[in-house]
Amino acid sequence: MRTAPTILHLDMDAFYASAEQAAKPSLRGKAVVVGGLGPRGVVATASYEARKFGVHSAMPMGQARRLAPNAAYLVPRFRLYREISEQVMGLLRELSPLVEPLSLDEAFVDLEAGETAWDEASAHAVGVRLRTDIRRVTGLTGSVGIAASKMLAKIGSEEAKPDGLVLIRPGTERALLGPKSVRILPGVGPATGDHLRRAGIVTVEEIAEAGEDELVRLLGKAHGSHLYAMALAHDDRPVVAERDSKSVSVEDTYDVDIHDRVRVRMEVQRLADRCVERLRAADRSGRTVVLKVRRYDFSTLTRSETLRGPTDDPAVVRESAARLLEGVDTTGGVRLLGVGVSGLADFTQEDLFAQAAAAERAGEVVEDAEAAADEVVGEAAPVEPVVERRWMAGHDVRHAEFGAGWVQGSGLGRVTVRFETPYSQVPGRVRTFRVDDPELEPAEPLPLVEPVGRVGVADAVETGVDVAAGA
Ligand SMILES: [Mg+2]
Repeated sequence: MRTAPTILHLDMDAFYASAEQAAKPSLRGKAVVVGGLGPRGVVATASYEARKFGVHSAMPMGQARRLAPNAAYLVPRFRLYREISEQVMGLLRELSPLVEPLSLDEAFVDLEAGETAWDEASAHAVGVRLRTDIRRVTGLTGSVGIAASKMLAKIGSEEAKPDGLVLIRPGTERALLGPKSVRILPGVGPATGDHLRRAGIVTVEEIAEAGEDELVRLLGKAHGSHLYAMALAHDDRPVVAERDSKSVSVEDTYDVDIHDRVRVRMEVQRLADRCVERLRAADRSGRTVVLKVRRYDFSTLTRSETLRGPTDDPAVVRESAARLLEGVDTTGGVRLLGVGVSGLADFTQEDLFAQAAAAERAGEVVEDAEAAADEVVGEAAPVEPVVERRWMAGHDVRHAEFGAGWVQGSGLGRVTVRFETPYSQVPGRVRTFRVDDPELEPAEPLPLVEPVGRVGVADAVETGVDVAAGA
């Protein structure tokens, strides 16, 4: 393990929800929940205000609505989040060639490899500057953890949240981890936590005291040894640039074992989407889809399937993961699920398989909010005059008279729009229209930070800001 704290972990604060609050002045300081709004939707991100009501990510949307009935419920705008993500990852790549994104809003950076930091003082200075730059460029806040290992850097950024920086001095790791709950260690979900607690192990120090043999006896060889090493703060995992990595994967550990097969399928779909999000963030595609299932008894299975060509199509990865799941018995309950894609290539070869899948799902109800928005635009062709337009809560619109706004809600043939932009000083006015109002149309998201030098009518028209409305 290195001796200087030169691994940085960045995690944007409540990313999707913060982006929505920055874009929509009327939601600043309010409870905001972003996620799937359909009957099987789950929370993607909750704002800190919504978290006070107990809402958290991966929670079924119905439960969130019961806990926080007055929160704003919005469909994600992935196009905007991806744009912000590219800005953030760009800033990280200025620090080092070794940047390992974990999702759109989270990444490890090896500062030593970038020669931007070599000791505590220089690493701290880099972290401070990075946070300032992120705020200036994106208008959002991110928290930074800095340590001598990936595990501790990630724990640092967690401790720093929201909007903070924590540097963990090498040599202090075990003292810091010791009294903390075992849940702080990566891979320890509530179910594993319970299992350990029944064996009398509650803190990290108690894992260290129990010894490796006991951990292996409790959790199996791989999981047990890994956890024991983590408890001793032994973590030599290198930062691997996504460009060089052989695979991309995401996994979730669940609060309680999942027994319901429908829920297991739903979680696998959600993980497949997140995995593709990471693939796309890195401009990669892959051929082999991997499903990981850890069952109630800690037995862990992996199943994989190799496609005919590389893909970064969420529908293809979802379908493949669903097929793999069909071959796994989950009746006793599942405590961890993961989806990965390996055999990575730098570009997507549009293969027949992907195209066939795309054609197939064109006839289905589109769940992905962005795809639905694209469809509205794409289908508004003169040959097809009767188009049922779908106004998704939170999505951008433009009205010929009132300018830029966003959908606050729709139903019963009406759509309610709030006319405000990220640059509005005060919350905007709300107006209601018929869903087929010809003056209302879907629009592109506006950048959160007003582009500099955006003066004059021509520019304003280009960015979709209605000059007449005076913003
Ligand atoms: Mg985050």
